[in-house]
Amino acid sequence: MPLPVPGPPEALYIHVPFCISLCPYCDFVVVAGAEARGPASRIPGYVAAVRRELELRADTLDARWGAVGSPTRPRLGSLYLGGGTPSILPPDAIAGLIRLVELRYGLADRAEVSLEANPGPDDRGDPAALVAAGITRLSYGAQALDDATLKSLGRRHRAADVVEAVAEAREAGIESLNLDLLYDVPGTSVEGWMTTLDWALELEPDHLSLYALTLDDPDAEGLTGPLGDHLPTTRGARRWRDTARAGQDEDRAAAMYHHAVHRLAEVGFEAYEISNWARPGHESRHNLAYWERRPYEAVGPGAHAFDGAVRRWTAARLDTYSNALTPADGSPGRLPPGGEEALDAASAAAERVILGLRTSSGLPAEAMAEPPLAEHIGWALAAELIDVTADDRIVLTTRGRLLSNELFARLV
Ligand code: SF4
Repeated sequence: MPLPVPGPPEALYIHVPFCISLCPYCDFVVVAGAEARGPASRIPGYVAAVRRELELRADTLDARWGAVGSPTRPRLGSLYLGGGTPSILPPDAIAGLIRLVELRYGLADRAEVSLEANPGPDDRGDPAALVAAGITRLSYGAQALDDATLKSLGRRHRAADVVEAVAEAREAGIESLNLDLLYDVPGTSVEGWMTTLDWALELEPDHLSLYALTLDDPDAEGLTGPLGDHLPTTRGARRWRDTARAGQDEDRAAAMYHHAVHRLAEVGFEAYEISNWARPGHESRHNLAYWERRPYEAVGPGAHAFDGAVRRWTAARLDTYSNALTPADGSPGRLPPGGEEALDAASAAAERVILGLRTSSGLPAEAMAEPPLAEHIGWALAAELIDVTADDRIVLTTRGRLLSNELFARLV
């Protein structure tokens, strides 16, 4: 098994931890309410801190890999502002962050510059200003396209807002547009999901991300301590999840997923990853970098970076983050605390197999004879989770995509 080899980043993620309100199923690193807007908003302080982190991480990369644009330090193919709701940042702050990234990290010609947005009228931002700032791809957290389901999920927007947001983005000339949708939501039916997908297709997105509603407990998983990459779950959200869990149904989720596979193939979308479908040429280059295990840098509270050999994360708490980077005493600031994990050859091999199988290109057939797949391949083939294509690639079947967690748990 080859040892993991580090390399300079090809992509950069900026985590923006602000939303106007908290959705009860959300496990992302987010602060909301008065911290996200109004006179007590912490957005200006965060922008100063994240700019400082961008500078400090760039200094480290310069020292390690050389100047941007040199043969050992390629410009970035992708920049992704995720959250949270990055669209609630002032457009000049977004433009300033993109300029700083261009200066210190370099952006390749036709780099993908993505921003996550909510569709509501007061948090979707101004798409024309976003395009002027350099955003090329917008990803809207639509989640559902009927008002009753949106309400049951605790979302602030209505279905009509998604229609308006998409129209505005197209009018502004956005190059690529994604809609996120959730399935296996309590109270929904397979027929309702079919209608949702058809309505989504009427909006002519370039990309669809379809996720089963997951109701994990980051506290129980030990991820929420002072240096953890998650924030504690509120009591209200915990109660909401306990009720919602009872309304989920594996068989219904499977039927919804199967329908998406067939319906989206009919209209020319490629299922290029377990949860992601795109029209040709609109695959998310940023997410492909993750699945292909290419090195990426990341900044912001709770953000994860990978240099090809070491995974690093930043502690999730905004106070810890800002106090380190922009100390109240005016001293220059230092990198925020967090943690890291060096991958050994076995864990790198497991990651390579799991991430490769998530994608439609899968793995070369030789992977069947190597650990960790060799030990489980007989079972996976017999259970019809894996198939071998005519051009000798190992890929997940639709059943394998649905049961991927079961397979992946055996591979780690
Ligand atoms: S809008 Fe998105 S990031 Fe914000 S709380 Fe809801 S699910 Fe989480």
